[in-house]
Amino acid sequence: MLPIWRLQVPRVAGFKNALRKTLKRGILFFYSIGEIILDKVFHFRSPRENYVCDAAVIWCFDHRFDVVFRNFLERIYVMNPDVIKIAGGSKCLASPGNDVERDFILNQIRTSMRLHATKRVLLMAHSDCGAYGGLAAFGNDAQREADHHQRELAQATKNLLTAIPGLEVRSYFMDFEGVYDAQVSRGARSQAD
Ligand SMILES: [Zn+2]
Repeated sequence: MLPIWRLQVPRVAGFKNALRKTLKRGILFFYSIGEIILDKVFHFRSPRENYVCDAAVIWCFDHRFDVVFRNFLERIYVMNPDVIKIAGGSKCLASPGNDVERDFILNQIRTSMRLHATKRVLLMAHSDCGAYGGLAAFGNDAQREADHHQRELAQATKNLLTAIPGLEVRSYFMDFEGVYDAQVSRGARSQAD
């Protein structure tokens, strides 16, 4: 004869199955009558009005630059941005790993244009970006890295305007000290520094 605890196993399993079936039936019932069964965990009122986008911004998701990024957008009066975050940011337009990355970004920009009448795009890159192998990939030479990103941003601008002509495009490079206009020539930048 089996001990009692062994006899109870099938009973427990049966109970669990029955409970699972009951819960499933309950969920299906709620869905069938269109009930929303989301559990609110945070109360906050967001504006319902649609908006015209000041600029679609192609940006990397590196969080170290998040504060300066948001402050900079405010500084240049981009209050309603459509921020498109992807590893490497503008790299996906300049030197994408594959066509899918480039097409994804282009489609996102087109969607922003369609939904929010976007006419301007900001292309951004930053120092020590993992998608480029970090600063180490440039022998820890910040100047060499900045030069490379400036060329990449110029290429990204060219590729973007070829794909979607008529956009206003600006490009910026960000390091741990600030934000730089990447369309300024190297010589002019050195004088400004
Ligand atoms: Zn990055």
